[in-house]
Amino acid sequence: MQSTMMRVKLSLTHFLERAGTLFGDVEIVSRMPDKSLHRTNYAAFYRRARLLAEALQKAGIRKGDRVATLMWNHYAHYEAYFGIIASGGVLHTLNLRLAPDEIGYIANHAEDRFVIVDDILLPLFEQFRHLTKIEKVIVVPLTGKPVQAPYVSYEDFLATASGDWDYPDMEEDDPIAMCYTSGTTGRPKGVVYSHRSQVLHTLVQCIPDSVCISGRDVILPVVPMFHANAWGIPYAACMLGTKMVFPGPHLHPDDLLPLLESEKVTVSCGVPTIWLGMIQILDRDPGRYKLDQGLRLTVGGSAVPESLIRGFARHGIDILQGWGMTETSPLATVSRIGQLQNDLSEDDKFATLAMQGYPLPLVDIRIIGDEGEQPWNGEAVGEIQVHGPWITGSYHELPQSADSFTEDGWLRTGDVASISSIGYVKITDRTKDLIKSGGEWISSVDLENAIMGHPAVAEAAVIAVPHPKWAERPLAVIVARQGQSVAVEDMRAYLATKFAKWAVPDGYVFVESIPRTSTGKFLKTRLREQFKDWTW
Ligand code: ADP
Repeated sequence: MQSTMMRVKLSLTHFLERAGTLFGDVEIVSRMPDKSLHRTNYAAFYRRARLLAEALQKAGIRKGDRVATLMWNHYAHYEAYFGIIASGGVLHTLNLRLAPDEIGYIANHAEDRFVIVDDILLPLFEQFRHLTKIEKVIVVPLTGKPVQAPYVSYEDFLATASGDWDYPDMEEDDPIAMCYTSGTTGRPKGVVYSHRSQVLHTLVQCIPDSVCISGRDVILPVVPMFHANAWGIPYAACMLGTKMVFPGPHLHPDDLLPLLESEKVTVSCGVPTIWLGMIQILDRDPGRYKLDQGLRLTVGGSAVPESLIRGFARHGIDILQGWGMTETSPLATVSRIGQLQNDLSEDDKFATLAMQGYPLPLVDIRIIGDEGEQPWNGEAVGEIQVHGPWITGSYHELPQSADSFTEDGWLRTGDVASISSIGYVKITDRTKDLIKSGGEWISSVDLENAIMGHPAVAEAAVIAVPHPKWAERPLAVIVARQGQSVAVEDMRAYLATKFAKWAVPDGYVFVESIPRTSTGKFLKTRLREQFKDWTW
């Protein structure tokens, strides 16, 4: 057989070298706990990430050892993303919004050896440390206060390295990072990523028909770096030398808007709840912030209401919806208007953008219903199953289960969807959120989107509540926009124009806020618990 191309291992350390060589002067901005801005650049990032790698090795980290981070989004977390990987270790991002016992369970299950923790998060760390076998605690002095022994200051730790160091041997399938699913059903499960999976994910993420990221962008990731690789943004930004603006612990729209404005951000990303809050501010005072004219948002993690997409469009801001999960690295589909949809009416274009979109190159999808594989006709629904080089094939230290993987090796996502004839996915529910009323399925996602399209509504979640006659009926839990109210009769009449009679909720509750998951999504399990005794 004739030889073809060189066999070169795909590696994230190549991105690090590239950033150090090509993009040294590009800025990395971080908001500190006191709200001041910390400024550094890729030259320092490169040097410090490599120092961290060397220091970790000197301190005993060996290939495959887990090093946890308990950190907000900022320059040091970015350095850790690459320094830990470059050492041969596995970056394990801990979700600081989980309950301490849960974080402890996860850190113990992953067998984390070291942790790098923000000084402001030390009190949280101490609440779960006893559940783990963590040997070394490296503290980032974000507040500038000296770090007390026995903790090791991150800066002192970097100073143990000489800078004269080379990468250990790595294979492209070596584990580089891990992240636990939120565990909304059962215990959280660990997903482990490799150089290969994340390099390929990054390359595809950046193409124009995907998230479309360029080195000329300025990116502000609101999505936490402990949530599904911050949707791949750190890897993409390092590959391209993109200016980064990290929000630190300040994620309120009132904090984000001035930062978007002053740093001339062109790409931001986060779950819908962030933007549902921001649109209210923009609508109230449209001229207040001069946002970059090219600003666009990547939104995912839960369904993006069409009204939100329309709302931002009125301010000249495009929303790109992505669908995926921790198990899919996370991007599996994105919603863009393709060549075949050019002639759609404006309304149909918005409706299309509110769908989850087409699969990315290298990702295969299918929907499986009770009668097997379902046709792509936009009507038949089934569980989405996915297959591809950045889709996990197993969970860390867990036996393969038929709940998660099919016999032919596809991942079962637990999301229910239809797929249109041109491959557009539309999620109708998660299997655990489905509402079955009198034998008919009702999509909670469709109802939520419609209710959030009402001008007086800020947020809405629809849940199934047991019903003596219909088995289950939908209950709408609604937060009104500031200073506004909605009458139940009006809402019912409004929904009756959009849904079949049996799908319109009979029950409505108005609340101050909807409980959130650790990743900022509506926590429907809590709502179901809260309203399980609802009387019809
Ligand atoms: P969890 O929600 O359990 O914390 P993930 O962050 O991995 O875990 O979330 C994955 C799930 O989020 C998907 O299975 C899906 O139900 C939901 N999801 C993600 N993006 C979207 C989207 N664009 N539309 C609807 N649901 C989404």
